[in-house]
Amino acid sequence: MTLLTLTGLSVGYGAVEALHGVDLDVAAGTVTGVLGANGAGKTSLLMGIMGATPRRSGSIRFDGVELGHAPTGRIVEAGIALCPQNRRLFPSMSIEDNLLLGATLAPAKVARERLEAAYQRTPWFAERRRESAGRLSGGQQQLVAIARALMSEPRLLMLDEPSSGLSPVAVQEVRALLERVAAAGLTVLLVEQNTHLVQHLCSSVYVLADGRVVGHDTVQGLVENDLLSDAYLGG
Ligand code: ATP
Repeated sequence: MTLLTLTGLSVGYGAVEALHGVDLDVAAGTVTGVLGANGAGKTSLLMGIMGATPRRSGSIRFDGVELGHAPTGRIVEAGIALCPQNRRLFPSMSIEDNLLLGATLAPAKVARERLEAAYQRTPWFAERRRESAGRLSGGQQQLVAIARALMSEPRLLMLDEPSSGLSPVAVQEVRALLERVAAAGLTVLLVEQNTHLVQHLCSSVYVLADGRVVGHDTVQGLVENDLLSDAYLGG
């Protein structure tokens, strides 16, 4: 079953059109990857789905419901969460308060229950709950940012370059967390420049260049058909 279907999605900023008619499917229970170089339109794609960057045309269907004109709050309510580029934690706020920001649409009691579940999954969050998020390493901040996105209990988790700027050890920790998330059955759309992470986690991969899909294949097909050079060298 397809959970998310984009048809002819175009997104832009003023005179700049960043995404030109993108078609993309995300099957339920899978991890789908989007690879592309700097400026390919990866962030615009995710921000367009979230309704945070103006959509010009095209359709966004999520579980059969059209969300192409929906405001961000309705998109979150529908079950889509974004872990944004550069993590976007609030550095002077505590780990706990950052996590709770992911559940602002839920009643307070439900938010506390989800917080306890996050603490059970990752005990060091609980031990350091009062610490400012800005004191954490980049890798730790990324784990908190993913956990914050999970606080809305999404049906689709979207991640914008979660490995960006992290050490190899930290990337392994992010990978392990995403493997656990995927094994639990959550549907994931992973946008990356890190081809290794995509090859390890994704079943199906799209290649984006200059705001267009220039390739779509399985991970094996991606390597065999040399689509990686399309992603980084423009074909
Ligand atoms: P990166 O890997 O560097 O984050 P990306 O693949 O996420 O790149 P986008 O950030 O989506 O690419 O950018 C796609 C295009 O849209 C680029 O040409 C970029 O210059 C342009 N763009 C992005 N944000 C804005 C903005 N706020 N105003 C105008 N143009 C923008």
